[in-house]
Amino acid sequence: IERTFSIIKPDATKRNLTGAINAVFEEAGLRIVAQKRILMTTAQAQEFYAVHKERPFYGELVEFMTSAPVVVQVLEGENAVAKHREVMGATNPAEAAEGTIRKKFALSVGENSVHGSDSAENAAIEIAQFFAGMEIV
Ligand code: ATP
Ligand code: MG
Repeated sequence: IERTFSIIKPDATKRNLTGAINAVFEEAGLRIVAQKRILMTTAQAQEFYAVHKERPFYGELVEFMTSAPVVVQVLEGENAVAKHREVMGATNPAEAAEGTIRKKFALSVGENSVHGSDSAENAAIEIAQFFAGMEIV
């Protein structure tokens, strides 16, 4: 059994899509074992996306992620990292497969509704940035 870190991004929380997105996760066999709605601070968003620091969209990404509440989550299941990325779809909604969350809900490559860890190793790092062990049940 594997865990991954998920974020329902501001464009989705603003449009009241938290439940619709969670339904996709649960139907895919991913269990929500921790979840909270927060307003990310600029420092949290900068740290979270530090790998993209040199990319041209970094500033706009940090602005976006702090523009409205997000829902941070830990999802658990068999091959959770890969399964989660599969149901999210490609980063750019124009390239996302039919039936994926980003195809259905994303507004653009930046405002793309969800985040998912890209490896089990990064999942553990990202989970620790937002959750204490006791909060994950
Ligand atoms: P995430 O890490 O959010 O799950 P991802 O792994 O599919 O998405 P990354 O390449 O890690 O994509 O990019 C992180 C985030 O940065 C994207 O989800 C998106 O919000 C934003 N982003 C990526 N590329 C662009 C771009 N060309 N223009 C604007 N924003 C972008
Ligand atoms: Mg990524």
